[in-house]
Amino acid sequence: MKGIAVLGATGSIGVNTLDVIARHPDRYRAVALGAHRNVELLLQQIRQFEPLIAALTDPAAAGVLEQRVRELGLRTRVLGGPGSLEALATLPEVDQVMAAIVGAAGLRSTLAAARAGKRLLLANKESLVMSGPLLMSAVRASGCELLPIDSEHNAIFQCLPPGSNPGAGPEGVRRILLTASGGPFRDWSAEAIAGATPEQACKHPNWVMGRKISVDSASLMNKGLELIEACFLFGLPPSGVQILIHPQSVVHSMVEYIDGSVLAQLACPDMRTPIAYGLAWPQRIEAGTDFLDLVRTRQLDFLAPDTTRFPCLALARAVADTGGLAPAILNAANEVAVTAFLERRLNFPDIATVIEWVLSRAGGGRAAGESIRSLDDVLQADAEARELALECCRNHGAATRSVHA
Ligand code: NDP
Repeated sequence: MKGIAVLGATGSIGVNTLDVIARHPDRYRAVALGAHRNVELLLQQIRQFEPLIAALTDPAAAGVLEQRVRELGLRTRVLGGPGSLEALATLPEVDQVMAAIVGAAGLRSTLAAARAGKRLLLANKESLVMSGPLLMSAVRASGCELLPIDSEHNAIFQCLPPGSNPGAGPEGVRRILLTASGGPFRDWSAEAIAGATPEQACKHPNWVMGRKISVDSASLMNKGLELIEACFLFGLPPSGVQILIHPQSVVHSMVEYIDGSVLAQLACPDMRTPIAYGLAWPQRIEAGTDFLDLVRTRQLDFLAPDTTRFPCLALARAVADTGGLAPAILNAANEVAVTAFLERRLNFPDIATVIEWVLSRAGGGRAAGESIRSLDDVLQADAEARELALECCRNHGAATRSVHA
């Protein structure tokens, strides 16, 4: 019986993780559940899974949850506040941590899980993008098992030789072929994309996901973040990762070897497959998904991405080449710009404009490519980039209001 902490339990990945756990009560127990402020859903999950401990990082929401838990006579202990997710991640009863908080908010708890030597099921790609060298060295120092949950990286992991060390360039690999659905605007003209609304951006053709990652998929920033993620996870330079638009989302990614072989992982687009793989590795368990019917699929297409209509991808590749603090700056600017777009304070194309502007100014006296020495370096770069991005969003606000009028 393995104890699982699900951080981001109320989100899309968290809910899917609990679905897989519920299918295997003889193997897994959800001992810790954490989220931000969704009291109702977390309470429902506490009633179903009876974890030892639950946490909400919003202190007021945690207070409400604690009261409701007490009224219902449930035995789950409730924690609140910013440090509560780290407490969950390092609990002795926890063997595996599903890191599924969205954005930079997941950084500290992801690092805490790695340092504590827990099996780390990594969905929170932003933490790796921000602090790749720190997180990977924490993984190596503690000897923790790092299982990528992003479907593409999970596919790559499945196609690599068994026993590949985290972050070490795998032997015999020529390059990684990272697939992307292309998102909801794949076939839209630049003019149509310019007027895109949050509702349109969040309507992904193949996946049901949280709002932030849905917008990232629509701008192809998600693929840019995944490119950076892949370089850290698998120890390859950015030039060793080719991005392919694959509208069917059936081939989740591929590994090309020096002998000309290409290994691919295929599955229906359902996050329960990589989640089940991460939980059970090196075994396999049933995940509750549909099975692939290739006769019905019939066709698998692969196209080159268009970085003119989707400039975020080119920005992310440049940042991957720069390294150091540049990915943390890109990530922070993107988070601020995506929030502004979702709140209708920014037009969709201005997400890239804001990121480019911030990248050209951030770093203070230091170069963005300067190497990361500590978590403080990352947090400082993140805070500075957020401030600049907010300023830039304000400057673009007037133009946005005229488009949405
Ligand atoms: P959701 O938006 O659906 O869920 C986000 C979760 O994070 C919720 O539990 C939310 O809590 C919590 N959260 C939000 N803000 C904070 C905060 N400030 N502090 C603490 N917790 C917070 O996101 P997804 O599940 O879609 O994505 C989660 C992560 O997984 C992301 O990094 C994403 O890139 C990655 N991922 C997601 C995939 C998917 O299919 N969804 C696929 C591959 C990767 P609350 O509900 O209480 O606000």
